[in-house]
Amino acid sequence: MKIFNTMTRQKEKFVPITPGEVKMYVCGPTVYDFFHIGNARTFVIFDTVRRYLEYKGYKVSYIQNFTDIDDKLIKRANEEGTTLKELGERFIGEYYKDADALHIERATCNPRATEFVQEIIRFISDLIERGYAYEVDGDVYFNTKSFKGYGKLSGQNLEDLQSGARIGVDERKKDPMDFALWKNKKPGEPAWESPWGEGRPGWHIECSCMSSKLLGETIDIHAGGMDLVFPHHENEIAQSEARSGKKFANYWMHSAYLNINNKKMSKSLKNFFTTREILEEYDAEVVRMFLLSAQYRTPLNFTKELLNSAKLSMERLYNSISNLESLYDEVKNEKVTDEESKYIKIIDEYKEKFESRMDDDFNTADAISVIFELIKDVNINMNINSSKELIRYALDTIRNLGRPLGILQKTTKKTIEDEVEELIQKRQEARKNKDFKLADKIRDDLSARGIVLEDTKAGVRWKYK
Ligand code: AMP
Ligand code: ZN
Repeated sequence: MKIFNTMTRQKEKFVPITPGEVKMYVCGPTVYDFFHIGNARTFVIFDTVRRYLEYKGYKVSYIQNFTDIDDKLIKRANEEGTTLKELGERFIGEYYKDADALHIERATCNPRATEFVQEIIRFISDLIERGYAYEVDGDVYFNTKSFKGYGKLSGQNLEDLQSGARIGVDERKKDPMDFALWKNKKPGEPAWESPWGEGRPGWHIECSCMSSKLLGETIDIHAGGMDLVFPHHENEIAQSEARSGKKFANYWMHSAYLNINNKKMSKSLKNFFTTREILEEYDAEVVRMFLLSAQYRTPLNFTKELLNSAKLSMERLYNSISNLESLYDEVKNEKVTDEESKYIKIIDEYKEKFESRMDDDFNTADAISVIFELIKDVNINMNINSSKELIRYALDTIRNLGRPLGILQKTTKKTIEDEVEELIQKRQEARKNKDFKLADKIRDDLSARGIVLEDTKAGVRWKYK
């Protein structure tokens, strides 16, 4: 399996620290609002990476944090006359609603910055002690010059970065690139006691702290959207490696943006759709299909046309699955014949092809094409003379390939309730059209299944005899 590592700008063979296990950290949302469908792209991508690693048999420890201390949260809490804690709680709740609806698997743990303040204070104290950080007027800064590898992830050297950062530099900093680890309390802001007075942690330090605390000083994969390469991940590396003297993460993965009219979808540009809005209109599997229709390092443009075409694709896939399931019910032969065993090998070849696409840096776009090819082949080759065993094998393979992508997991069978309601509806129409023969037949058919209908003032009710 190969992963493109932002650090080396190459696809590298994936070798986990502990065989059979993966320690993965994904930078999560700042919980001051609903998340938009651009954020959802990143969340769905790394959920898919995790699902595929699990499909391959790895045990994955998957950490995704909630940033619940930050300027945007403080501003909104003040505007709404509520506390940081209440606001954070509320949008964490909303995050789970949307993420669950999108079939994003729950993380092993979703740590919150506010729960790690004491750990963060310890982390910062270690950095000061080791000469990597300094205090000025109740703020603590990381001294970027003291960390030799600063700039290695984003491929920039400190001189270039410094010259780009001259304007509006805080005079109290030793170097323009130094960044805040701890921020002194300002009026109206929530604050925690610390050796440097009351204040709150900076943003970057929370991830360094949670990652090392929950997964260890060196982890396998650290991930997030492209916009996090610099400065967020660069700063995480500096803090973490300065403290531990060890490599922070072996693989750095970054997802490309979901754009709208070729601009990054973002809150600040106000060019976004919330995930909730989109899920009101489209099924979760359709949304996932759309979000995974491009390889994760390729930008994807958001349009309703693309969503509609993902919807059609899903309908085609489910139609085929539903036809195969009906065929399974109809066919008489139970066991696979010798001839059919050869066809099972062909199905397995599609499975291998799917895996080779996913093994190549999670190329979901090509992997989805392989599912289409498989379904097309199966449709042509399976008929009323096929065995149940073969049809079941094809169906199970299709569903299993959908699993890491979080698609093709819905049942196509109608529930009994749906079916009875539909028949009642049909009977009502028949009566309206004075087709009493059909109406009676529907009632008798249901009766033969042990279901009786009662005509009440409130409409037709049904129950088991
Ligand atoms: P935020 O809540 O802004 O910290 O973002 C949460 C995650 O969504 C981060 O990993 C961001 O990089 C990612 N993200 C933000 N905007 C987009 C976008 N338009 N497309 C893809 N990922 C995004
Ligand atoms: Zn982070």
